[in-house]
Parts: sequence; structure tokens; C-alpha cells
Amino acid sequence: MSPQLLERISNCTDLPSLPAIAVQVLELTQAENVDLSQIADVISRDPALTGRILRTVNSSFYGRARNVGTISQAIVVLGLQSVKTLVLGFSLVTSVAGKKSKGFEHTTYWKHSLFTATASRLIAQRVGVVQVEEVFLAGLLADVGMLVLDRLMGEAYGPVARRSHFDLAAAEQAAFGTTHGEVSGHLAVSWKLPPLLTTPIACHHDTGAVAEPTLRRLAEIVSAASRCADVFTDPQAGAAIADVRERMKTFNLDASVGDSLMGELQIKAKEIAKLFDINIGESESFEKVLQRANEALVNMMLQSQQQTTTLRQQNEQLREQATTDRLTGLSNRADFEHRSAALWDAAIANGTPLCLMMIDLDKFKSINDTYGHPGGDEVLRAVGKILKTTCRPMDVLARYGGEELVLVLPDTPRAVAAAIAESIRLMISAKPVMHEGAKIQVTASFGVASFETGSPLTTFTHLIKAADMALYQAKKTGRDRVKVFQPNVAVAA
Ligand code: GH3
Ligand code: MG
Ligand code: MG
Repeated sequence: MSPQLLERISNCTDLPSLPAIAVQVLELTQAENVDLSQIADVISRDPALTGRILRTVNSSFYGRARNVGTISQAIVVLGLQSVKTLVLGFSLVTSVAGKKSKGFEHTTYWKHSLFTATASRLIAQRVGVVQVEEVFLAGLLADVGMLVLDRLMGEAYGPVARRSHFDLAAAEQAAFGTTHGEVSGHLAVSWKLPPLLTTPIACHHDTGAVAEPTLRRLAEIVSAASRCADVFTDPQAGAAIADVRERMKTFNLDASVGDSLMGELQIKAKEIAKLFDINIGESESFEKVLQRANEALVNMMLQSQQQTTTLRQQNEQLREQATTDRLTGLSNRADFEHRSAALWDAAIANGTPLCLMMIDLDKFKSINDTYGHPGGDEVLRAVGKILKTTCRPMDVLARYGGEELVLVLPDTPRAVAAAIAESIRLMISAKPVMHEGAKIQVTASFGVASFETGSPLTTFTHLIKAADMALYQAKKTGRDRVKVFQPNVAVAA
């Protein structure tokens, strides 16, 4: 916290102060020779406070069989520590509750505080620490800094405070350079409360900062209790429930203890709210909260499954768009290069023949000129279809560019490739393409080249070049024909 902010807090006249009776009781309990009857006297002078303490002591919260009628009796039955905690708790809450918050929900604030206090007590009992009363009070006062920040920051605090309590400290740190825990701790110190209270109050969202093991454990209890309270105040309880279960393990408790604890918490906290005369609004049972959280969890899972499917479909679509030629539906140039490189590597590795067929439509320019560009497109699509019907799944069929197509045939000898080219040529020339009532006569020229063991074509680029040369021969010698590249070197059988 910056010195300027500290000064603003110190100078703020509107902050909750420790009521006179609490100051007196604290002083008397810290005296060297504690005089129990004097303490009972001081408390008994405040009839409202006395009534509340006796109601609380006799409530099911303490679960005493014997009815307690006086403060002196209460001190004997419950112990001084419990009574002192009740005095501090009741008097401070009365003093604090009078100060209305501006920027955030008052009812939620108190609900969270009372749930934290009650949960702190329940956890402490299960963990087996002796400072049960201290953690209750620490839980009750842990968030009092929120009221201070609300007062100091005015309008700016509301939007920060309305988020889940779990994220609050980080948001406060980012916005104001301090946290409500730090401010609560500062206030508790100014009230001269002992470290058993001030440390867990100050560090309930930063337990790692506490070095002393006992104080650290108390801070961890209040921190876990605050997370229990989140279960009942967060609209989405799932994360808080999961977190509470995890935190039980850090106390060497079974995760299931978290669930039974939260069930008990809701009942006990409602009782405590009544004793403190504080309105905490509606409070759902833990079973209801859990049921809703589970439904939300299932919905979240379904949603994420749906998202995964959509994403996979989108990826598939994108992949297809990236590899397919829009007009013909054949592979595009990039996909051809990618896939035929793999076929080339396999042919080299396995010593199997690989053929490449270049197909170029004849006089395509004049088809465009005669039937228009859409007519030309129709022809390209039709030729693409014919080629598709003849090729095998392992072949690579692609639009090489413009009206030039390419077919790569793995594991195919040159003579077979030449025969295939011839049959495709015949199919193309035998079937005119229909376009807007017109019959478009189409022919194509073919250049075939092959890679076989002993071939002088040592790279895939060579193979393309060879097929291109054969195609040029086909064009030069009259079109509508197949030419096969003949290497000068004899090919091994
Ligand atoms: P050749 O027999 O020598 O191959 O003559 P050609 O007219 O087929 O060859 P040229 O390279 O002179 O012309 C090819 C034409 O193909 C030119 C271009 O406008 C056309 N073309 C390229 N891509 C497309 C396309 O996607 N659709 C249409 N309709 N025409 C295209
Ligand atoms: Mg051309
Ligand atoms: Mg052409």
C-alpha cells in the first residue's frame, strides 16, 4: 500500500471504529491478572449486547445442553475467549453494519462475511486447531476493508467490487494498488486486535505471505472459508465448489469433507445471521447449489464438445479451401506440390515407377472466345470430372494452372500411364460439353513422363519438365494426342 493511500485511510473520519465496550473488554482480557467478574460486569452493563450473547450461547450453534442465564455463567461454560469474541463480533458488526455501502450489494457483503465466519469455525473444528473463536472473528472481519475502499474510492469501487469475491483482490490491486484484505488488516491493527486476528484478516487472500506456521494455518482456514462463502454468493458456483474440495486436501481432510461442511455451513450461517440480526437475503441449500453447478458443468461440457466439433469442421473446411481448386474441385497447385513430393520420395525409397501426365486443353482460348468465359469454365469442370472418374485414390490429380491439368500416378510403368492417357483423351473428345444448349467439342493434348530405376530424371522437377516437353511435342504435331517422353538413356527393365 502506498504511503499516500495509508494516509487517506488514517485521515478518513468515517471509518468503523472499535466500540467503547469492545475496547474495555479487550483491555481487561489482556491485563496481567484477568478479573473475570469485572469483565462480566462490563458486558452486563450493555443489555442489548448481553441479550445477544446469551441468545447465541443458548442457540444450537454452540449446542449446549445447559441453559446459560448470565454472562458470568457464559464465561465459565464457554470460556473467556469465546465470550470475548462474541463481544468483539457483535459490537463491531453493529458499528460496521450502520455504514451503508455505496458501490456494492450490502446484503451480499454481509452474507459473504457471515458465511466466511461460520465456515472458518467449521473448518477450524475439523482441522483441530484451538483458535476456533479467533478464526470466526477473523472471518467475520476479513472483508471489512471493502467498506473502507468503498468509502475512499467512491464511484470507482463499485464496478471492481461487483465481481466474484475470488477475483476481487487482484482487481483491487490493479485498480487501487491495495486489496481489501490489506485494508481490513490495517483497520484491525488500528483497533489493537492481536496478531491471531490481524494476520488472518490481512492475509486471507494472500496466505503465502505469512511466515509463522500457526498464523499461516489460521490465514489458510479463513481463506478456504472465504472460498466456501463464494459457493453461496457466486452466480457460478462450480469453480468455488471444486476449489473447496481441493483445499480440504491441504488440511489433510478428504475432499468429501468439503461437501458435508458446505451443507452444514448453509444451515449454521443462517442461524448466525439471525443472532447477529443481519439480513443476508435468500440462501439456497448446498444440495440446490450443487445441483445447479452440476447442470452448468454438464452444459459447459456439452458446449465445449459442440465447439470442438464446430472447430474441427471449420478446420476441415479451411484445409479443404486451402488445398482445393474452387472451379474444378481438384487439388490446387500448392496441394499438388505437397502431395507429389511425398509420392516422389516414396518412389525413390521403394524403387517403384512414378508417372506424371500433363494435360492441356486444345485451343481453349477460342472456346472462351466462342462460348464465353462461363462456357470455358464448364469445359474445365467437365474435363476435371472425367479425370476424377479415372484416377485411383493414391493418384494426385490437380489443376496445374489455367487450362492445364496434371495427374501423378505412383507405382505405374510408363506404358500403362501412356495407355491411361490415351483412354482419357478418347473420353474427352468423345463427349462434347453441353453449355446453354450448345455442344462444345473439346480435345486435349497429353505429355507423359516416367521415373523408373535407372532413369536420368533424378528430381521431381526433371519429371515435370520432361512431361512438359512431351506435351509441347503433342501440341506441335497436331494436338489431341498423347506423347511420351523418351529418355536418351536406356531404362532398365
Ligand atoms: P493451345 O491449344 O496451344 O493450348 O491453345 P490454348 O488457347 O488452349 O492456349 P493459350 O495458353 O493460348 O490460352 C489458354 C486460355 O485459357 C487463356 C485463358 O484465358 C484461358 N483460361 C485460363 N484459365 C481459365 C479459366 O479458369 N476459365 C476459363 N474460362 N478460361 C481460362
Ligand atoms: Mg496453354
Ligand atoms: Mg491450351
